[in-house]
Amino acid sequence: MTNISSVVDVSIVIPCHNETSVISALHSRLCATMDRMDISWECILIDDGSTDATIDELVKLHEADERFVVLQLSRNFGKEAALTAGLDFARGRAAIPLDADLQDPPEVIPELVSKWQQGYEIVNAVRSHREGETIIKKVTSHAFYRLINKMSRVEIPYDTGDFRLISRPALDALKNIPERRRFMKGLFAWVGFKTTTVVYKREPRFAGNTSWNYWKLWNFALEGITSFSQVPLQLATYFGFAVAFGAFVYGLWIISRTIFFGNAVNGYPSMMVTMLFLGGAQLMAIGVIGEYIARIHDETKARPIYIIRQSWQQGNV
Ligand code: UDP
Ligand code: MG
Repeated sequence: MTNISSVVDVSIVIPCHNETSVISALHSRLCATMDRMDISWECILIDDGSTDATIDELVKLHEADERFVVLQLSRNFGKEAALTAGLDFARGRAAIPLDADLQDPPEVIPELVSKWQQGYEIVNAVRSHREGETIIKKVTSHAFYRLINKMSRVEIPYDTGDFRLISRPALDALKNIPERRRFMKGLFAWVGFKTTTVVYKREPRFAGNTSWNYWKLWNFALEGITSFSQVPLQLATYFGFAVAFGAFVYGLWIISRTIFFGNAVNGYPSMMVTMLFLGGAQLMAIGVIGEYIARIHDETKARPIYIIRQSWQQGNV
């Protein structure tokens, strides 16, 4: 794969899905921060199939300032795909993904950049605490990170979103990963490189509504676990062994009881319970295998991760 030669220092990459209400605030806070630093920059804005006027707002930014590059995806591909599109287009010596809703304050960027200038190749922004998020979301997110780190060999940093600085070597490594179902947090960690962290306070959403609900979060967690761990498959195996061992012991007992005391043909309840239990356990194990097969299916189809409908880059308006 050819690597784009870097023409700016930093590319800010922002996926946007129905974000009309935040774009002007985002623009002013971003420019204020970036222009205070002594570096060249560009901002890649990806319209991820918004159904509101997001694209018009984004194109206006591009028309006023060519450092804002706009990509419009052909439909809603999801945040991970939108982010991938942006990172593919980034021409910076480093890229920083940012949420459009200002939950990742742009004011933290100078700290990320200064760590990068000290020689780190990936700088993770870690949330010290989250505001404007429900207790349930905090608890479930905490549990998710604990679980995935127990199950996966890749250390996925706790309480780190997509907000981070990725320098060109790491970015090129990331671009060479052909995986289609992209669990970005995991991939960022998977590529390795010299990594450090900066702590920041995650703010509540500036305006508009989150595109996430619990069903989406559950699927996101499933994506993370199946992409980065084979433990669920192994659990099925171990569970199978345990049940088989139990069945063996139980079988010995039944046989010896029959030999010594004869067979009074009872045991309907225990047979029913065992059958139902095993039936359920088997279906669950098949479900787990199914999750992995579905992902293999998706990967073998090798469809593109995203499709760009139109782009507004430097030199084309
Ligand atoms: N987003 C996206 N495509 C989607 C959903 C979300 O590009 O299908 C973007 C969204 O515009 C925002 C970021 O991803 O910039 C994070 O989304 P959101 O704030 O809704 O998620 P939360 O912060 O609640 O996890
Ligand atoms: Mg958000």
